[in-house]
Amino acid sequence: MSVDVLHTRSLVLNKAWQPVNTVNVKEAIGKIYCGSAKALGKDFVTYDFEEWVETWSDLSIIAKVDRHKLINCKTFKFMAPEIIILNEYSGRIVQEAKLSRRNIFIRDNHTCQYCYKKFPVKQLNIDHVIPRSRDGKTTWENVALSCLPCNTKKAARTPEEAGMKLLNKPVRPKWSAMQCQMGQQLPSSWKTFIDTFYWNVSLEEKSN
Ligand SMILES: [Zn+2]
Repeated sequence: MSVDVLHTRSLVLNKAWQPVNTVNVKEAIGKIYCGSAKALGKDFVTYDFEEWVETWSDLSIIAKVDRHKLINCKTFKFMAPEIIILNEYSGRIVQEAKLSRRNIFIRDNHTCQYCYKKFPVKQLNIDHVIPRSRDGKTTWENVALSCLPCNTKKAARTPEEAGMKLLNKPVRPKWSAMQCQMGQQLPSSWKTFIDTFYWNVSLEEKSN
């Protein structure tokens, strides 16, 4: 069995098909196997474990799948579920993203929030929007990525004082897309569920 695929992540939706979490593929399969979740196919049909495995019994279908996404058991193969739907839970779990260096880089997409250009990690700093010397706190709402020249230019001033405009208002991300590995591409199948929920909506919302 391919070890790598088991460590990639599956998106978890609640009964209302809202994203609540991500789990690794091994956990996702466990949930499907024990009946607490179903796999969601590209056709938006839900499958229990037997049905899911059955779907992939056709070798011509298997042949079309990127082999890195396949779970190889002794007698059969099936595709790792990219999305699962919980059978029981209908509420929405809003997991708060931990304020960590890694997560700030993901939130700000490696982009200097003052000159709007992308940079390698080493050329970016975490800037306090309201400077620490003015009691600016280290919170999601007060940190932003900044390249070194912008950081120097801004110095111990607010963006207004420095005549600089932030690309995005810094907010606490509402959903743990942060659990994805940095640089990991989100599967295209997730986009239906994440685009509105995370990438658009939560960034427009006021932080608590
Ligand atoms: Zn910059």
